[in-house]
Amino acid sequence: MSSEPRTPRGGSGRARGRAQSRGGGHRHSAASHDFGLPVLPDAVDIFDTTLRDGSQQEGLSLTVDDKLRVAEQLDHLGVTFIEGGWPGANPKDEEFFARAPAELRLSTATLVAFGSTRRAGVRAEDDEVLRQLVKASTPAVCIVAKASETHVTEALRTTLDEALRMAADSVRFLRDHDLRVFFDAEHFFDGYRENPEFSLRVLQAAEEAGAEALVLCDTNGGTLPHDVERIVAGVVERFGCQVGVHFHNDSGCAVANSIASVRAGATHVQGCVNGYGERTGNTDLSAAIPNLSLKLNIRTIPPERLERLTPVAHHIAELVNIAPNPQQPYVGSAAFAHKAGLHTSAIARRRDAYEHITPDAVGNGTRFVVSEMAGRSTLALKAAELGLELDSEALGGVLDTLKELEHRGYHFEVADGSLELLLRRATGWQPAFFEVESFRVISDHDERGGDPDPRRQSTEATVKILVGDTRVVATAEGNGPVNALDSALRGAIGDHFPSLAGIHLIDYRVRVLDTGRGTGAVTRVLIDTTDGEALWTTIGVSENIIEASWQALYDSIVYGLTHA
Ligand SMILES: [Zn+2]
Repeated sequence: MSSEPRTPRGGSGRARGRAQSRGGGHRHSAASHDFGLPVLPDAVDIFDTTLRDGSQQEGLSLTVDDKLRVAEQLDHLGVTFIEGGWPGANPKDEEFFARAPAELRLSTATLVAFGSTRRAGVRAEDDEVLRQLVKASTPAVCIVAKASETHVTEALRTTLDEALRMAADSVRFLRDHDLRVFFDAEHFFDGYRENPEFSLRVLQAAEEAGAEALVLCDTNGGTLPHDVERIVAGVVERFGCQVGVHFHNDSGCAVANSIASVRAGATHVQGCVNGYGERTGNTDLSAAIPNLSLKLNIRTIPPERLERLTPVAHHIAELVNIAPNPQQPYVGSAAFAHKAGLHTSAIARRRDAYEHITPDAVGNGTRFVVSEMAGRSTLALKAAELGLELDSEALGGVLDTLKELEHRGYHFEVADGSLELLLRRATGWQPAFFEVESFRVISDHDERGGDPDPRRQSTEATVKILVGDTRVVATAEGNGPVNALDSALRGAIGDHFPSLAGIHLIDYRVRVLDTGRGTGAVTRVLIDTTDGEALWTTIGVSENIIEASWQALYDSIVYGLTHA
């Protein structure tokens, strides 16, 4: 299903009063700077490019199935456009566009294919990239054109006039095939600073040929918000069609630049959920969306879906197999985490005193971080957060245990999963899923015959488990002890707990701690696990790395089953 642009065109400008003419048709001179508040647009189209620009990130590689699942998540969130990739550039993207019509049922988003303008000296109808774009049969396409004099003469090695014809011919060709055309003006901001006349002529060529949106790209990511606001305002003032923006985060300003652009009248914002992308990434839509919706009161995704933001951001992180950044604004696991002290007792009285928004609004939650520094009040808050009733005596007991364990090298601040299990046990609860009789790990390494052959390096684990009255012995191989133990445990109990199939480990971290007590080093293991929506961390500590790993693994599985 295709959505028509829902944003008022040219609905921006500056006025003294903000409320009266919001989204209205009249425009002021943006250059006049009358120090009034800007008239904000009513709505901004959110254009996600995770599947195209985002997948330029080092270490991020998606199969076609992964891409389809990411697209489903983006549609579930409610973005306006999903850029699916570059048909014809590689077999994977070609397959994606071939399968998308049958396998993707998009409810709110419009699928977009990406490509570039025709090559220099070639007719548009003879250009392979443009033909592939038409063949992708999406309702909309996005094409990139160089909007900087230097890039035209140095990188394309053609004339400025030919660059303008390339832009115009390509847009016209695609419009003749009834496609909605978004026009990515590459290196626009740098080009504008160098030769504004040429950069604006590129936009003009695209607009006259029928482009729906002129998207100003900060391809090198070096522009700062004050320049962005000034330049975007100038473009909005000059052109009748929708103006969009595409920022890279090399100066750490991609989100700020996107906001500045909207304030200046842009109504189409490109970026990636979680800010994926080459180098330092693209605009993080997980921050841009709530900033626009909650702070500026501008419609982005459907308002009732804003609470899907955190689960979708985590789900996509899992699909692209990159551990989420806990400090990510709005959706990070630490975004609303409060550590012991003054803070926690105050926040218990007034949430908004220490939180910039209500975390529920974006599907996140307040979290009280508990460590040995924690007092009774933090622990009580944590228990209340989990819905557990602990009397004063039980609370004192947990506090003692916590201090003792932290002294031995545990660190519950970063292991919310294990902490929760500890608190639950303090209420008298015992996990009844299975009982461990024993486990064993054997690791073989064989270098005879020279060349280390991976087939002769193997790790095998055996676990003996009681599930109810049934005793199960399971053995599995793995690429290391944790993997082998995880596989063996799943082999033993998987049939009894089908929900286990949706729970998997996503990160494993080991740190060697010097206890300074002459007893030898202690190993601390942290495991991150997800069920596709929530993410939890569990911990194990021992002088033996396999023992520490087992503790963390055991907690990870028990936590998952408790919440399944
Ligand atoms: Zn880009």
